[in-house]
Parts: sequence; structure tokens; C-alpha cells
Amino acid sequence: MISATQSNHPLATVANADARESALTEARNRIRRAGMRITQPRLAIIASLHRHDGPVSCERIHQDVGAGVCDLVTVYRCLAVFEELGLVRRSYLHNGTCLYELTLTTLRHYHIVCKACGVAERMEYFPVENVERLLTERGYTQVSHVVEFFGVCPKCQSAAPARNAASTLPRERG
Ligand SMILES: [Zn+2]
Repeated sequence: MISATQSNHPLATVANADARESALTEARNRIRRAGMRITQPRLAIIASLHRHDGPVSCERIHQDVGAGVCDLVTVYRCLAVFEELGLVRRSYLHNGTCLYELTLTTLRHYHIVCKACGVAERMEYFPVENVERLLTERGYTQVSHVVEFFGVCPKCQSAAPARNAASTLPRERG
């Protein structure tokens, strides 16, 4: 199931090889600039994030990277570091599952996640920096935000309503 998803993905084409290479190079540079080492797990995690081109769970990244390269805890730690470096941003499913997405290849955006099928669709970003500034003026430091939208997609509304939402991880649509 996993390999089928990957080989069917649009990013598996040669045309995207350049974009992939430049994203990996930029990620490498940022890691180096932060004074950190380029390790095999770190590169493999970035490659996995880039392949998915959308929000993906730690567990799924770990599956991609392979248990032989690193354990799940290492994946969590790397993602936390990448978030600090601004390489990834976090998003959530409505059940609280944390997902990660590479910031290098996409403009800032929000997601609308279907509560029934779990498919995440991108939606345009609207700035909330003024809210962050307000909080900074109140004396808060390292202010960040997470905004997620949840609903039932038109497809699920017209289909039979007996689907298990929890068992489905999101895919990127469109
Ligand atoms: Zn749906």
C-alpha cells in the first residue's frame, strides 16, 4: 500500500527531480548554518517530507525512512529540530494527531481537513501576524500559532456516512 502511494504520486516524475534536489540542498544549508550535522536520518526524513508534499505523520515518515535507518523517537526529535529551524510546520487532525509538512516547497497555507475521510485540502493563508505582534507587545516571546479547519467534504456528504474517520490519514488533494 505504501509503495503504491509513492509510485503514483506526481512528485515521482523526472520533471520534479530538480525541485526536489534544490529543496534538499536548501534544507542541508539551513541545518549546516544552524551548526548541526547532516546525518542520514535527517536527510531521509526531509526526502520523505518532500515526497509527500502535504501534511504527514511521524509514523508515516518513519515507515518511509525505514526502521534500519533510525527509530521513531529519532524521527520525532529531528522534526522538533526542523520546526525550530523553520524547515517544517506542524498541523493537526481533528483527533489531535500531529502532522508535519515541509515549508521549503510551499507557500504558507492552512488546511481544511475532512472529519469523515481525513483528506486535507489546502486553503489560502490569511495573515495573523498582527495577533502575534500584539502578544509580543504583551511580553510573550517565541510566539507562534496553529490554525486548522475541520469539516465534512462535499464528497463524503454525498457518500454513505458510515466511514471510520480515525483510521484514515490525510492525503493532499488538488
Ligand atoms: Zn471527506
